[in-house]
Amino acid sequence: MIRENVRELLAEIPAGVSVVAAAKARTPGEVLEAVEAGIQIVGENYVQEAGPAIDAIGGRATWHFIGRLQRNKVKKAARLFDLVETVDSISLARELDSACERLGKTMPALIEVNSSRESGKAGVFPEETEGLLRELACLKHLRVLGLMTMGPPVEDPEEARCHFRETRELFERLRAIGPAGVELDVLSMGMSDTYRVAIEEGATMIRVGTRIFGERPQRERGEKEEG
Ligand SMILES: *Cc1c(COP(=O)(O)O)cnc(C)c1O
Repeated sequence: MIRENVRELLAEIPAGVSVVAAAKARTPGEVLEAVEAGIQIVGENYVQEAGPAIDAIGGRATWHFIGRLQRNKVKKAARLFDLVETVDSISLARELDSACERLGKTMPALIEVNSSRESGKAGVFPEETEGLLRELACLKHLRVLGLMTMGPPVEDPEEARCHFRETRELFERLRAIGPAGVELDVLSMGMSDTYRVAIEEGATMIRVGTRIFGERPQRERGEKEEG
């Protein structure tokens, strides 16, 4: 099933849009199957869950961190991941920056935007994004490549459209300003139920779990999606 799902999805999405397979609650074997079917980027919500998958699959995929990064996991995340999609504060960014400095690497990153302005949700509000971007531009071991947003939980994908549109407009505005030589190319938005709308609204990257792997195992239902 995973194989067919990946093939259908890759055939459906336009060139220039990349797919991140959101791997939470999946086994390394399932993730490997997706990679063998053509997935090139895997997204992990939990640092501890990523270890076994990365051991099994390693350089056959690029690894994105898409969850909530806890302070005590920053060092390990800096070592394991190729890109962090969920930077939303200067303090987190500074810790990531110094962990990367010690490793002698520069971490590509996205700023997570709380486009639906839900309280308690990860991400910076749209109007705070430029300020954060300017601060991040000073960090030598972090390189901001774009924006990521979750959008609200929806019944109907159309409910997500205005949030994706606002995020894309923000992305274009920041791109035009290009503070401190930052070049923004990546706009990560849209999940299994909303990726079509997200692509229509300008996403260059979608993060898809259920559409690839099927419904998540029961234990995940109702839990917070971001770790
Ligand atoms: C789980 C998750 C996704 C994918 O969700 P699906 O609805 O299973 O496609 C995308 N982004 C993040 C941050 C996630 O945690």
